[in-house]
Amino acid sequence: MLENLKPIIEIQELDMKMVRLMRVKRERQKELKQIEDLRADLHAELKAKEVEVEEIGKQIKQKEARVVEIGEKLKSLESRQSVVKKVEEFNALTQEMTATERERIAEEQKISDLVDTKAAEEELLQKIRDSLKTSEASSIALEKEIQASIDMINEEGSQLKKERDVLAQNADADIMRIYERLLRNKKDRVIVPIENRTCSGCHISLTAQHENIVRKGENLVFCEHCSRIHYWQEAEVAAGEAAPTKRRRRKVAT
Ligand SMILES: [Zn+2]
Repeated sequence: MLENLKPIIEIQELDMKMVRLMRVKRERQKELKQIEDLRADLHAELKAKEVEVEEIGKQIKQKEARVVEIGEKLKSLESRQSVVKKVEEFNALTQEMTATERERIAEEQKISDLVDTKAAEEELLQKIRDSLKTSEASSIALEKEIQASIDMINEEGSQLKKERDVLAQNADADIMRIYERLLRNKKDRVIVPIENRTCSGCHISLTAQHENIVRKGENLVFCEHCSRIHYWQEAEVAAGEAAPTKRRRRKVAT
């Protein structure tokens, strides 16, 4: 294998871990956002219901004031009737009093309906309050758990970065530039071994001539199909590299 590739392959393994770690972190952040949204929805629902109940209360007060007015009007009609002399006037007042009495009954009926509605809405309001309380208690616990996991991811991420910085100091700067550009494009391993005369990045077959050039390990060789950098993996190197990769992977927070 091209010697210069070795440190960069190590860097690549750290970068792959970082990519996975960031993916997990985004998932966790999404979960936090969902919890916040749910809580905001419940708060908005609660607020809207409070306004509704308050509005019904105001309507009831207005109607009650109107009933008092009607009562006073009836009293004044009665006292006028008690002093009139003419039959026509007396009858006219009777008619007016009947109409006023009808209006009072109608208003009282509306008040009674509104009181029923208000009671039902208040019951709903209480249910929203209760569910908000329950969901807040459980969501706070969940949020703490998620935040703790994000903290762990951040810690592991900064650890990975430290390791990477050390390795990057000794890596060939030109190959690093090429590697990083390829990584930005593919967000995947970009320095890959040839396996069964096939690119293990894009899985397209390669020519024997291509394989030979890679085996020699004298130059950087790119896959003509996917532009990844190829290297030849000797059997003992493969076994030696697989073990530490596995050990490190266990520490990754998921
Ligand atoms: Zn390829």
